[in-house]
Parts: sequence; structure tokens; C-alpha cells
Amino acid sequence: MKKRNSILLLSLVFITFTACAKSKSSTVKPAEVEAARQAVLNPEIEKLNRVLVSMSPRCKAAISNGDAEEFLADLKKVLATRSDFSNDDLSPFFLIDKTHKVSADYEPKGLIHLEKNDLYAINKNNLSLRPEAFNALQVLATAAKKDGVTLTVSSTYRSYDYQKNLFDYWVSVDGLEEAERESARPGTSQHQLGMALDFAPVDDAFDQTPGGKWVYENAAKYGWSLSFPKGYEDVTGYRWECWHFRYIGVEACKFQKKWFSDVQQFMIEFINCWLETN
Ligand SMILES: [Zn+2]
Repeated sequence: MKKRNSILLLSLVFITFTACAKSKSSTVKPAEVEAARQAVLNPEIEKLNRVLVSMSPRCKAAISNGDAEEFLADLKKVLATRSDFSNDDLSPFFLIDKTHKVSADYEPKGLIHLEKNDLYAINKNNLSLRPEAFNALQVLATAAKKDGVTLTVSSTYRSYDYQKNLFDYWVSVDGLEEAERESARPGTSQHQLGMALDFAPVDDAFDQTPGGKWVYENAAKYGWSLSFPKGYEDVTGYRWECWHFRYIGVEACKFQKKWFSDVQQFMIEFINCWLETN
């Protein structure tokens, strides 16, 4: 009999089994023993258990129930997409947040300047993206254009120094506590990776514009992931930013939606933990 276990259930079963195995009076049910035995036999499931146990309770709770082998197959597809990105630069799944930084002198390689064009609008002249994100923006904007929507790009790559000035500006306007909710300290911004952008207008009103409605519906199909969703400020460190998207690729967007409650932060934390675990 093949028992299909949820990944979280399997995790708990495995812990139960290893704990009970030490006890003389085991009360483990045969199906649980079989699930735990499979975990021992399959090193990847055993690794998955270890990674899941180390994740935050909030992240664990957000992971969908499902079959562990299916999860691992999806994970492999996502990891394989790293070959679509330059291996001479940071991984598309590089973890950057309030506690994970890049150095002040990090600059993505081969930044491409965004020129005025017929696909999308730009509202500044100093915009640039990493080549992978630049190309993905072309694809996204082409699809939007076909649906009669012209997107406006407001912010893209930002250097450490630019981000420092921006953060200091918002602190002077709103005070430190409020600035921290919406502006990143230098070295902690996804914008420094050259893989994230802000659409205009950069405020909550974007959500109700034709562009906002369109990207909400379609961005993930083209590999662009909303970084700071509503209701997750305690997880991402930032309030809802309906205008800010990070390019991570189509497979990763699917993986995020299917297994991680569509929360990018959870998925990227998981991937980094997986890659750091032997
Ligand atoms: Zn942004």
C-alpha cells in the first residue's frame, strides 16, 4: 500500500518515528512506519524534513499540504532554471531582506539602460536592469501591450549610494519608523540586484489602474513576482507594495503560488535553506 503523505505530515511522522524508535513501547501505526521508512530510504525526503523543521513557524504554516515527491520534482525544475541566468552574477533566488545584505560595492554585471521605446513608458532617464530582467520586461510589456495596457516603469536598479540617499530622504520626511516600512536601508534593497522594478504610480493607487490590474493578473505568467504582498509586513519587513515586482522566472512563480501561499519571501527563504543544507 502506497501512502501519499503531505510534506508537513511526513515531517511530523518522521520526527515521531525517530522519537518512538528509541522507546521500548512503540505505538507507531504501520502506515506511519512505512512513511518514515520511505523518508529514510529517500535521502531527499529526509533532507526535506530537516529543512522544513528549520523553517519559521509562519513559513511552515504557509506551505501547502501535498505529496513530498511532487514538491521535490517542482523544486528541481525551479533550481534548473538557474542556468537561464548568468552564472557570473548573483543567483536569481539570492536572499536579500532586512537581515540579508549585499556589499556596498555590489553592482550587477552588464546592466542595460532602459531607453524610450514603444512597448512601455519610462518616467526617468537613469533606469537600468540586469540583462535577464531587461529581457523579461520586454516580454511582459509586449503581452500587456497586446491587451491594450501600457506599463510605466518608475524605478529599477539602484546603487548602494542611491539607496542610501533615498532611505535618508524618507527618514527625513516620515521619520525612521515609518520609513522602515517602505524604504530599504542601503545594501538590503532588491533594487540593488538589478532584478526588481517599480511600476508607476508608486503608491496604493497603482492597484486600481489598468496597469496595476493587468500585472496583478498576469505578471507571474512572465516570471515577475510581487515581493511585498498585503498582510505580510511581519514576514517581508515591508508594507504592501503593489507596484514592486522582482523577476525570478516563470517556474519559480509557479512554485511560489503552488506551495508557498504565493509569498516570495517564504519560497526564497526555503530555497536558500535547501541549498545551504547538506
Ligand atoms: Zn521597489
